[in-house]
Amino acid sequence: MNFKYVIIGGSAGGIGAVEAIRGIDRNGSIAVISDESTPQYSKPMISKYLSGAELEEIVSRPLTFWNEHMVNILAGKKRLKLMPCPER
Ligand SMILES: Cc1cc2nc3c(=O)[nH]c(=O)nc-3n(C[C@H](O)[C@H](O)[C@H](O)COP(=O)(O)OP(=O)(O)OC[C@H]3O[C@@H](n4cnc5c(N)ncnc54)[C@H](O)[C@@H]3O)c2cc1C
Repeated sequence: MNFKYVIIGGSAGGIGAVEAIRGIDRNGSIAVISDESTPQYSKPMISKYLSGAELEEIVSRPLTFWNEHMVNILAGKKRLKLMPCPER
């Protein structure tokens, strides 16, 4: 698989990176790799979730965020090493 942009982690930093990229590049392919199944929840709201809230109530972006931003979300996968892309 080849992507123009590869982001490790889909939490606050990853979401910010996606939004920044889409601000300057509407079509470049983006992959977000996360070892979490639903990475875009708000960590500060974990306590609300543990108190019984639904996942949809603690996400920092809608669950449709990745599709809307044309992101290939590779959730539930851990990236251990990145290899530099050879010069073309
Ligand atoms: C309980 C709690 C309460 C908080 N409350 C506040 C608050 O009130 N105010 C505030 O400003 N901040 C708060 N924070 C801190 C805030 O959540 C973090 O600053 C913010 O989440 C950092 O975002 P990040 O994207 O940099 O990192 P993270 O949120 O840690 O996200 C990194 C993501 O990358 C994934 N990842 C890491 N390594 C790999 C790998 N090798 N392969 C694949 N995926 C990987 C992780 O699983 C994770 O999903 C709180 C944090 C916690 C835990």
